[in-house]
Amino acid sequence: MERGRTSFIAQSDAEVARILELEAERQASTINLIASENHASRAVLDAQGCLMTDKYAEGYPGHRYYGGCTYMDRVENLAIDRARKLFKAEHANVQAHSGTQANMAAYSALLEHGDLIMGMRLSHGGHLTHGSGVNFSGKWYRFIPYGVNPKTEMLDYDEIERLALEHRPRLIVAGASAYPRIIDFARFRYIADKVSARLLADIAHIAGIVAAGLHPPPVPHAQVVTSTTQKTLRGPRGGFVLCDKELASVIDAAVFPETQGGPLMHAIAAKAVCFFEAMQPEFVDYQKSVLENASILASELQARGLRIVSGGTDSHLVLVDLSPFEISGKEIEEALEAAGILVNRNSIPFDPKPPQITSGIRVGTPAATTRGFGIEEMKRIASLIFRVISSPCDEHLQEQTREEVKEMCQRFPIPGIA
Ligand SMILES: *Cc1c(COP(=O)(O)O)cnc(C)c1O
Repeated sequence: MERGRTSFIAQSDAEVARILELEAERQASTINLIASENHASRAVLDAQGCLMTDKYAEGYPGHRYYGGCTYMDRVENLAIDRARKLFKAEHANVQAHSGTQANMAAYSALLEHGDLIMGMRLSHGGHLTHGSGVNFSGKWYRFIPYGVNPKTEMLDYDEIERLALEHRPRLIVAGASAYPRIIDFARFRYIADKVSARLLADIAHIAGIVAAGLHPPPVPHAQVVTSTTQKTLRGPRGGFVLCDKELASVIDAAVFPETQGGPLMHAIAAKAVCFFEAMQPEFVDYQKSVLENASILASELQARGLRIVSGGTDSHLVLVDLSPFEISGKEIEEALEAAGILVNRNSIPFDPKPPQITSGIRVGTPAATTRGFGIEEMKRIASLIFRVISSPCDEHLQEQTREEVKEMCQRFPIPGIA
């Protein structure tokens, strides 16, 4: 089991090695349509498992609090340069441990506790860090949520402008975790300027699409951009922050020492590899097929009578409304998992069901596209999904679908699995 790299682990810890083998087998034999996941390359995985994990490098390149940082500086500078080039940003901080940490640092750099922020409503596709009451964001800052228009199910920029003029926030956050449409960063900036707010673009989900030039870029509209590296960007688990020159030192200080300690240098090495991979022409082809696959999946599901939120997708994900079938997102998530297809339950805008149950599922194509699935496979997957949704309690059918899924997966091994 190449990808699991279990050989050394097995020598010291048979139990963990066994679990890793089982996980590799699970990934190999199921179709992953979880929109926030992907399969990192072997190069990214190797970098993440490298000996830079041993090193303390608090500080920034050229200004460390520890000796022995020559190569830490080199790899971090490389990651910074590549991130800047890829996203055409004036400054990049690649130390954020995750997307959440990136947002925590960005808010901290720009705001005082208690300040007013506008962010997308979680139930309309926003993220926990955009003001949820169970998250630091909702506890430390006051949020005015905005959402989608009930008819179009797309961002309602006139309403966002009205809310901004009414509440005059200090920061507007543009970005989402379950929004299938283009986000108009230029329009957001226009609104932010009207009320002298700053604009933060959180591109955690769409970073890979942006890097490939297939989604309008957040730079130069947003003064600060936060992101993860593990989603469409197909890198290690991690975060980064981009910003204008003037904000460089406050952003850096907000990441370290304010909200984090020593950087995860192995993860930074893996981010450098991921940014390099994202600069290659093959990466643009990959993102094109991610988008094409999502669009096919949406139209194939729609053709079978499923309701697609907002009528389609411009991105890597599709939100499906199951309410006409009188089943919940939770039930279908479980039925599909039994059939070897991984999706996640997801609230749809104005969902009457609670977030643990939901009326929808979110279906994404980044991981499936990485393993080589194309148009034909998407058509087949749409028919398998529809079959399971049509008889959600039929265990025999799920078993039969599971076999078909296994067979498809065998023909498209995840790159890096021996
Ligand atoms: C995934 C996501 C994050 C957080 O990323 P983590 O790495 O899971 O902390 C932040 N913002 C948005 C919009 C996301 O989708």
